[in-house]
Amino acid sequence: MGLGGSVARLAELFVRARRPVVFTGAGVSTESGIPDFRSPGGIWDRFDPNEFTYQNFIGSLEGRRRYWRLGRATYPVIRAARPNPAHHAIAELHRRARLDCCITQNIDNLHHAAGLPAEKVIELHGNATRARCLACGAAYARDEVHGWLEADDDVPACRACGGIVKPLTVLFGEAMPAREVAEAERRARASDLFVVVGSSLAVYPAAYMPVHAKHAGATLVIVNLAPTPLDASADLVIRGRAAEVLPAVREQVGA
Ligand SMILES: [Zn+2]
Repeated sequence: MGLGGSVARLAELFVRARRPVVFTGAGVSTESGIPDFRSPGGIWDRFDPNEFTYQNFIGSLEGRRRYWRLGRATYPVIRAARPNPAHHAIAELHRRARLDCCITQNIDNLHHAAGLPAEKVIELHGNATRARCLACGAAYARDEVHGWLEADDDVPACRACGGIVKPLTVLFGEAMPAREVAEAERRARASDLFVVVGSSLAVYPAAYMPVHAKHAGATLVIVNLAPTPLDASADLVIRGRAAEVLPAVREQVGA
């Protein structure tokens, strides 16, 4: 089946589905200029992930200083990014009542920025635009924390209680947020169409979500440039760019 035929088939699946779920990965963000940190030449090729673990962050002032030094350099890339046609197509599917929810591995807030309501976005790896005090729970915008870093406060502490301020992203060695994981599993199992977009399905346990969906009887579709370990069990595989395929599908879903 050519790309056109695959797009038409996916559009038809969206039209027929009662509970379509979209699952997005780094491939959706790269087209907004956010590098895939895990890809060759990515940030974790240049920095040792073992130095940026949750344990190091919590465990010592030096661990936090090292983390924030890197964060000060990487956050402006996320802040400058804008949603691309893939994000807009997903938000539009929601507006046309063709989306139960979007489960994402991305931390860049771009699904929200494209207009998808917060309750429709399940973030498995957290959100880089927000931070929180681990002691008192005070919430901070990452922009505010970034301002402190720029003012050479190299290990930001909570303004209210002096506690450790941590971004709402899931660090290496940190468990994924239990509430989000449970909700994502529930939605995956309840879905009748589960569409993976821009994920190589290499990072577990996030990559179990399509497995849950498939086992519960959903039609599984994978839209990704590279092969994934689940291609063989998918009902439809589309080799294409998210920002190209999704708007074409959205177009054919119609009003
Ligand atoms: Zn606090």
